[in-house]
Amino acid sequence: MTYADTIAAIASASGAAGVGVLRVSGPAVPQIAAELLGRDPDPRHAHFAAFRERDGQLIDRGLLLYFPAPASYTGEHVLELQGHGSPVLLDTLLRRVCAMGARLARPGEFTERAFLNGKLDLAQAEAVADLIAARSQAGARAALQSMEGVFSRKVHDLLAALIALRVHVEAAIDFPEEEIDFLADPAIMRQLHALRAQLDELLSEAQRGVRLNDGLRVAIIGRPNAGKSSLLNALAGSDRAIVTDIAGTTRDVLREQLNLDGIALELADTAGLRETDDPVEREGVRRAHGELARADVALLVTDAPHVGHDLALLADLPASVERIVLVNKIDLDDHPARYEIRTDAIWVWASAKNGLGLDTLRDHLKQLAGSGGGEGAFSARRRHVLALEQVAGHLGHADSVLRTIRAGELAAEELRQAQHALGEITGTYTSDDLLGAIFSSFCIGK
Ligand code: GDP
Repeated sequence: MTYADTIAAIASASGAAGVGVLRVSGPAVPQIAAELLGRDPDPRHAHFAAFRERDGQLIDRGLLLYFPAPASYTGEHVLELQGHGSPVLLDTLLRRVCAMGARLARPGEFTERAFLNGKLDLAQAEAVADLIAARSQAGARAALQSMEGVFSRKVHDLLAALIALRVHVEAAIDFPEEEIDFLADPAIMRQLHALRAQLDELLSEAQRGVRLNDGLRVAIIGRPNAGKSSLLNALAGSDRAIVTDIAGTTRDVLREQLNLDGIALELADTAGLRETDDPVEREGVRRAHGELARADVALLVTDAPHVGHDLALLADLPASVERIVLVNKIDLDDHPARYEIRTDAIWVWASAKNGLGLDTLRDHLKQLAGSGGGEGAFSARRRHVLALEQVAGHLGHADSVLRTIRAGELAAEELRQAQHALGEITGTYTSDDLLGAIFSSFCIGK
């Protein structure tokens, strides 16, 4: 697909001392390039050029690179002009290019065109934005993997297996007299179970991908005076939260962004979760519950005398929230720093005051944040996880209708919907609204 119009934008302006890049894409690129250079440019060749106004006045000198369609980022003719990093010069050059037939690009429009021209699928295009916005080294590495198509390939593998299964089930429906025999074939159930296992694996990889991308969201909860603010300060290395001996000091939710050895963490210190008559504190408790609902990890801070009682705070959490119990203040009774992985939670004994045991806590947090994902770990977004969860729901229904009532039509419909949900990840099926929402969150020039 090629567009009738040509777009242009400043792709980077790194200050007066650096290089500024102007990117142009579309059918008018060959004329614009020829006019700026004074002759037709050689494809993929760095030309040193004088960029001039129409009347010959010099704007800047720099490099001109021409990438003819379709071997370019967008799949269209692309021109890159590299000049001095002055925003004023780049702006003048942008006006000049626009006077020659380009228009200003919308945010994300280059990547949108790359997507629409089949250069990238949607998950890869989103990874471009995530790479630019990455807040940690691990996040950047993971976004790069997704941009390279690691995640998309796994989605395609799953799609291929799903289509193979659909072919079987649809064939059974097409031969109604043999339908029951077809559907009773253990090979179909084996195929479906293998598919569900493959999906579960991808779902947990994608969940880790979201954590790598967004950072791990940790909500610190516990009774007033358990040492939550002290812990936040110890982990963040600052006096961000107010630490006092008066119960109920932490009234609002305090947030801290941490970078633990290249992994992003968002820590939220919530008000002590106790029943209270003070309206201000009650508001804090309400927010604490809200914070828990969106957290990846609930970190319960308690101490030896209160452990039994405080565990109740972990009772109502959604199953998807990981749990860590931090038994704090071990300095008071000379308890050794140690940890235990129990079925209800990871237990860590530590002291926020003198730092004992906090390295163990950091290690567990890093692990939960996805640092154990190895080289192949890729980034993902919440919408991808939601789509995979929908696929899981449809496959689960297909499984039960095949097992119980052997209803081929119903199973076929569930599988069709599963395929649709998978297609939303890579953009095979997407609404314009979704595309608009995704690409408008990009920076201009990307
Ligand atoms: P929060 O209400 O849960 O945020 O608790 P704070 O962080 O404000 O701490 C309450 C009190 O416990 C303060 O006096 C802290 O100095 C003290 N405290 C916190 N952690 C420790 C610890 O590991 N050891 C000891 N001995 N005191 C601590």
